[in-house]
Amino acid sequence: MAEEKSSGTDKELVGKVALVTGAGRGIGRAIAFVLAERGATVLVNYNGSRQQAMEVAEGIQAAGGTARAVGCDVSDFEACGHMVEEIMADYGHVDILVNNAGVTRDNLVARMSEEDYDRVLDINLKGAFHTIRHLARHFLKQRKGKIVNIASVSGVAGNAGQANYAASKAGLIGLTKSVAKELAGRNICVNAVAPGFIETEMTLGMPQKAREAAVASIPMGRMGSPRDVAELVAFLCAEKSDYITGQVICVDGGLV
Ligand code: NAP
Repeated sequence: MAEEKSSGTDKELVGKVALVTGAGRGIGRAIAFVLAERGATVLVNYNGSRQQAMEVAEGIQAAGGTARAVGCDVSDFEACGHMVEEIMADYGHVDILVNNAGVTRDNLVARMSEEDYDRVLDINLKGAFHTIRHLARHFLKQRKGKIVNIASVSGVAGNAGQANYAASKAGLIGLTKSVAKELAGRNICVNAVAPGFIETEMTLGMPQKAREAAVASIPMGRMGSPRDVAELVAFLCAEKSDYITGQVICVDGGLV
C-alpha cells in the first residue's frame, strides 16, 4: 500500500504522541502511517476493525516507528474518557489528536430513519466532542497541542442524500472553529480537513453510476488517495503550521 512507503524524510514529530481515531483502515490508516513516518508515537484507535488496527501498529513498528492499537467506540463518552486516561497513564502526554472516525448512512431525507440520523451524528460529531472534551485539559496544561478534525466537502457545500452526514460534518466545522477560538490563547491549533472523494471503503461502496458521476464532477478528473489527505494532516500537526488555526482546508481536486 502507498501509505507504507515513506516519502517524507522530516522527523518533525519526534517525541510527539498522536491519537488517531478510526485508524485501522482508510484515511485514518494513512494518517497513522504518515505521522509515524514523521517520528510520532501513534495510538491507532479502532472500534470494529481490531485486527486491521493491530496490523497498522505492526506495520509502523516494522518500519521502525512506534505504535499501539487502542479500542474504543468514539460515540461512547465514558469509553473515550477511559481511553484517554489509559494513554495518559502509559505515555504521560498526548500532543496530537486526529478525529478521523466517521460513518455514512445515506438516504433521502424523506426516507431517513431517526436511528440513521442519530448514529451518524453520534459518531461523526459527538465522537469528536468526546475526545476533545477528555483531552482539552491536558492540552491546556501543556500549553501546546494540535487537533485536526476530518470533516468533508459535504459539510461545506451540502450533498443530496447525505442530510445526516452533511449535518454532522458542518457541525464538526462549527466545533472546530469554536474550540480553535477557545484554545488559541494556549497555543493549541484546531483545524478541519475536508476531503472530497477519496479512494476508501467508504467510496468503494458507492454504486458504479454514482462513482462515475462523482469522478466526472471533480475538476482534476480523479478521486484522491488517503495519502493526499494524510500529508495535509501531518502538516497541520507540525510546528511549521503553528500560526494556522480555525481553518477548514479542502483536499478535493478542485471539487468545492
Ligand atoms: P472508512 O474506510 O469507512 O473508515 C471509517 C473509519 O471510521 C474506520 O477506521 C472505522 O473504524 C472508524 N469508525 C467508525 N465508527 C467508529 C466508532 N464508533 N468509533 C471509532 N472508530 C469508528 O472511511 P474513510 O473514507 O477512511 O473515512 C475516514 C474519515 O474521512 C471519515 O470521517 C469520513 O467521513 C471522512 N471523509 C471520507 C471521504 C471519502 O471520500 N472517503 C470524504 C470526505 C470525508 P472501525 O472499522 O474500527 O470501526
